Amino acid sequence: SAQAPTSGSPPRKVTIATAWLDGCSGCHMSFLDMDERLIALADCIDMVYSPLVDSKTLPDQVDVGILEGSISNEEDLHKAREFRQRCTLLVSLGDCAVNGNVPAMRNPFKLDAVIERAYRDNVEVNPQIPTEGVPRLLPVVQPIHGVVKVDIFVPGCPPRADAIHYVLSELIAGRTPDPSQVTRFGA
Ligand code: SF4
Repeated sequence: SAQAPTSGSPPRKVTIATAWLDGCSGCHMSFLDMDERLIALADCIDMVYSPLVDSKTLPDQVDVGILEGSISNEEDLHKAREFRQRCTLLVSLGDCAVNGNVPAMRNPFKLDAVIERAYRDNVEVNPQIPTEGVPRLLPVVQPIHGVVKVDIFVPGCPPRADAIHYVLSELIAGRTPDPSQVTRFGA
């Protein structure tokens, strides 16, 4: 089982990094849906890197990494590997991260056909396929655990704020969240 980040050390804030890969940001909105519970959490966690805060450099060592979205392009792959390398525990947040969900709906089609559909067939004004400035799509969309080891899965589209709160509370307490408890809040 995963190592709890705080066990055996004096009380200190648990450092957390989050990122969204190929997701819609809905999972991060669900994080914010913890509402007033965020104020209590702020006493126990230090958000060191996230689209929700100003810190835009991922530290070398972070207690908990939380990834929303699936692995769809080269940048997603790089970010997932970077998180795995630097975070003691890695959380796969939401169905896109856990099983591919919406982004993986392109998997039955060849990549060329997907790109044609998105950038030419469905575009009325100046259709063109970008050759620079956007990361290259991977041939197949994968969940996070398809490319790196994941410690904790939080399914749901989006996951309930209660489920996110349960996971964070357990980690802050130095415990590994029970998977059956994570899903008891529904999706
Ligand atoms: Fe959006 Fe749902 Fe995917 Fe989360 S799981 S990124 S809410 S589509």
